[in-house]
Parts: sequence; C-alpha cells; structure tokens
Amino acid sequence: MKQILSYIESNKKRYLNELTELLKIPSVSSQPKRKDDVLNCANWIAEHLKTIGMENVKIHKTKGHPIVYADYLKTNGKPTVLFYGHYDVQPEEPIDLWTSQPFDATIRGENLYARGAADDKGQIFIHFKAIESILKNYGELPLNLKIIIEGEEEVGSPNLENFVKQNKQMLKSDLILISDSSMFAKDVPSICYSLRGLTYMEVELTGPNRDLHSGSFGGSVHNPIQALCEMISSLHDKNGKITIPNFYNDVLSLTKEERNSFVKLPFSEKKYAKDLGVKELYGEKGYSSLERVWARPTLECNGIWGGYTGDGAKTVLPSKAFAKISMRLVPNQSSKKIAKLFENHLKKIAPKTVQIKVRSLHGGEAAITPIDSNGVKSAVIALEKGFGKKVLYQREGGSIPIVVQFKKILKTDTVLLGFGLPDENAHAPNEFINLNNFFNGIKTSVYFYYEFAKSFEN
Ligand SMILES: [Zn+2]
Repeated sequence: MKQILSYIESNKKRYLNELTELLKIPSVSSQPKRKDDVLNCANWIAEHLKTIGMENVKIHKTKGHPIVYADYLKTNGKPTVLFYGHYDVQPEEPIDLWTSQPFDATIRGENLYARGAADDKGQIFIHFKAIESILKNYGELPLNLKIIIEGEEEVGSPNLENFVKQNKQMLKSDLILISDSSMFAKDVPSICYSLRGLTYMEVELTGPNRDLHSGSFGGSVHNPIQALCEMISSLHDKNGKITIPNFYNDVLSLTKEERNSFVKLPFSEKKYAKDLGVKELYGEKGYSSLERVWARPTLECNGIWGGYTGDGAKTVLPSKAFAKISMRLVPNQSSKKIAKLFENHLKKIAPKTVQIKVRSLHGGEAAITPIDSNGVKSAVIALEKGFGKKVLYQREGGSIPIVVQFKKILKTDTVLLGFGLPDENAHAPNEFINLNNFFNGIKTSVYFYYEFAKSFEN
C-alpha cells in the first residue's frame, strides 16, 4: 500500500491535468448540438481506460449516446465488481452565474470548478486513477473488474435498461459500485446504503354530472372538492401515521445500530426548520427528521385541483375534483401492493355522494444493501482508511432508478461510494469537486478493491 500511496502523491499534478482534459469536453447529453462532443468524450474515456491498463475496451452504440465498456478479468477465483458511472453532463447554463468558464477546470481554494467536476466525471476519474495506481505498481488488480460508463444519465438513461438486459452475462458481478453521490458533509465520510421507493397515484372524484350554479344548487349536493379534501385529510392520523390499513405491514424497521449512527451525523433539526422557513417540523411521531425522510414511508398530496381557478370569481359547484398523491416507500414494501392498498382504501372511504376513479401512474421499489454485507463493510473500512475518519451511515430519501434497475435485471446489490459534497452545485453554476475528497477518494477506491477482494476469502 505504501508504494501505491507514494505513487498517488507523486502523480497528483498529472491526475489533475488529465481530469482537466476530460472536463474540457462539453459532453452535454441533452443538447443535439453537442452530439459530437458527447461522442468525443466516449472516445476519450475508452482511450483512457486502455492507458490505465483496462482490457476489452469497447464503445457500444445505442439509439442515443454510446456506452463505454472495459474489463479486467484475470484474477481467477476472486470476486467481480461492476463499476458504473456516466460521462455526460448537464447543460452549463446560465453561463453568467459561473465565476470561471464551465468547461475550463479552475482551482480556487481547495476546490476544482467545472461542469461535471463532481457529477460525474470527477468521481469516475477517481476510480480510473485508483485502478492505474494499482496496475502500475503491482501489475494486477486484486479482483475482477468490469466498467460501464454511459452517456445518457442526465437525460434519464433511456437506453441503459435495454443494454443491461441484452448483456446480462457480460455485466454479471458480485457487486455494483457507483460513485455519483455525496457524503453527508465535508469531513464527514458517510456511506449511503438505502434508497426509498415510490408509488404515484391519481384520484378523480365526480359529484354531479355537470358543473352547477352554487347559488341554485349549493347546499343540496356534496362538493367533490370538499369530499376529496375530507378523504385526503383522513389519510394521516394525529400522530402523522398513515391510516391506510396494512400500509406498514412490510416495513423493514430501523435497527438500533442504524438509529445510533444517524444520531451521530452533524444535523440540527432547528437549523433544518429555519432553513426551510417553517416554524415547526412535521412528521410521524417517534422518529427524527432524518429517520422520517430516509427510513419511514410517507404519503404526500402533490397536487389538487378542480372547479374554477382563473382570474376573479366564478360561483361554481364543480362536477369533478382531482388529486395526485405519491407515497415514498422503504425497503421490503412493494410499490404494486401499496398501490392496491391505496386504491382499495380510497374506494372504501369515498362517500356515497361521489364516484371515484383511482389510477396508478408509476412506481419503483426501494433498495437496501445491508450494512453487514461484504460490499458495505468493505466500503466502510476503505473510507476510514482513505479519509482517516470514522464513517457514519446514511440513507437517501429519494430513489436512484439505475440502482433499482440493476437489482431487478442483474439481481445484484449496489454500493454507493459517493465522494461529492452536498453543496457541490451539481446541475447548477459553479459545480466543483473538493480536491481533498478527490485525492482521498482515489486512496479509498484502492482500499475498497483490496478490502472487497479480501472479504471473499473467509
Ligand atoms: Zn450523476
């Protein structure tokens, strides 16, 4: 390890120069005028993978931007890691809010600023340099490694699912590794091991068969907007719990260890409330805000409409009322099952004064890679060695569709080894990567590959 660490130390400048080259390519996947730039970027990635010693490098065409594949499969009997990342970036606009040119990597203070510095070019480059450092010093990797770097993540990865389905064998691995997320805070290395799922529903209530004059009819008919509000407000009890029967049946409870770790994160409920401009926070009783957002299912009314919403007044008693309602789900809950429970419950509580239609718009499952799995355990050891600090656990309240797709198609868990920071301005002007995170990230990745290989020995 000493040899690798000193190699990293003495090559820092070159690493940054190479990263600057990569960041200079404006590989904005959403803009047709950048199509050639995106292709150039794929070529750059492919060439670079060859230089660092990866093999079978191939640029796979898709209906959109290409996917770069490479592997190193020489270590018989060792586990295989599939590393996923993306070389495309978000548009740089609005340009005038950038302090330096978005595609000119510029170092200010301890950060390197450029579009893609954190999301995700800087983070994939961390792994490229880790791989190089190992291969240049020891001639072989401690495990088998497959790499796919796609060019359409920022536009929703429209061709990735097909690619994965068609190349199941080629992409087979023991673990998927992604570095495209953030740590909890600066100097707080953390590992995100779970994401929430989602079920999205739409409700339509019909009262009278046409819009009515509220003077002539008001008082004789149940206004569907009122009925809908009554139904929605009954979906939570006074403790903030969701009242749909059996809703919590499959919820995977937090362990003591997880709860204790969340408490250690530098997080202030007071500051959080102030930052959001609310006098008091709201949520399920018995849980902290982090627990509510990360590990408890929730139900939100995302939109509600009906009747007249234009300028001035119109005295209408509307025929219809609508609402969009989504539920964030946690590991072990099934989005299809929850959609059904929701539909049945709403039909049950709808008063006889209205007719109800419930539609399911879309859904996705939550994901969890257990904290005692080889993948997470190796990541924790690697982060502690790379950053020289105790690592804390965190979850994510949103979802990362790719992780769910990988799980569904390849049946493989993902470790999210994020080296970004929450304030890194991903997708916004002045995106940056912290240089300390960049170099500690390289060390962490090196440690990770060794630790994960070792975890299969016992
Ligand atoms: Zn990204």
